[in-house]
Amino acid sequence: MPPVIDREKCTACGACAEYCAEDVFFGSEEGDVPQVSYPEFCAHCSCCVYACPAEAIRLRIPLPMQLLYKDPVRAV
Ligand code: SF4
Ligand code: SF4
Repeated sequence: MPPVIDREKCTACGACAEYCAEDVFFGSEEGDVPQVSYPEFCAHCSCCVYACPAEAIRLRIPLPMQLLYKDPVRAV
């Protein structure tokens, strides 16, 4: 499931779009809150979550994945 951006917290720095290897934020305009253009491509890697200096991104892990999901960063 796609990342969810809190528009109140987002400073439109663009870090999430820069770090996402799957181009989920493809087409986002510089200086604007990124748009989640391809949510189905999200690999739940959490890179955008940790790249966000404003803690404005929340990942929604699909229900069937929740049993096995381990946060790739915190799991290290
Ligand atoms: S969790 Fe990973 S794949 Fe999904 S939007 Fe964030 S950086 Fe991209
Ligand atoms: S990294 Fe965070 S603050 Fe920066 S554009 Fe993305 S959601 Fe907004």
